Amino acid sequence: MHELSIVCNIVELVAEVAAGRMVRRVTVEIGKLSGVEPEAIAFCFPEVARGTPVEDATLDIREVDAEARCEICGADFPTPDMLSACPCGSRQFQRLRGEELNIKSIELEEAM
Ligand SMILES: [Zn+2]
Repeated sequence: MHELSIVCNIVELVAEVAAGRMVRRVTVEIGKLSGVEPEAIAFCFPEVARGTPVEDATLDIREVDAEARCEICGADFPTPDMLSACPCGSRQFQRLRGEELNIKSIELEEAM
């Protein structure tokens, strides 16, 4: 399962950043065109986090709407799927957002 390895990577990275402190909250951004199911991520997280400093952390998932910038008319427009074109009809554009999978922030326990 694709999502399981993604969650493993997230937990590993967060644990590294935490460097022994407990993690309170992890915020992850998932682009709507990333092909990653937020529900599957949320489902795997507690399993993978068990026994790590990330165990008690809340997982906060933010879905990011996909957007592109047209190379013909310069407009930014939403791209709900891979096939959408600019309202001007152009299919030449650069994707701005929507394919990312980022750890946006990590909240740690206060140091003692
Ligand atoms: Zn356009």
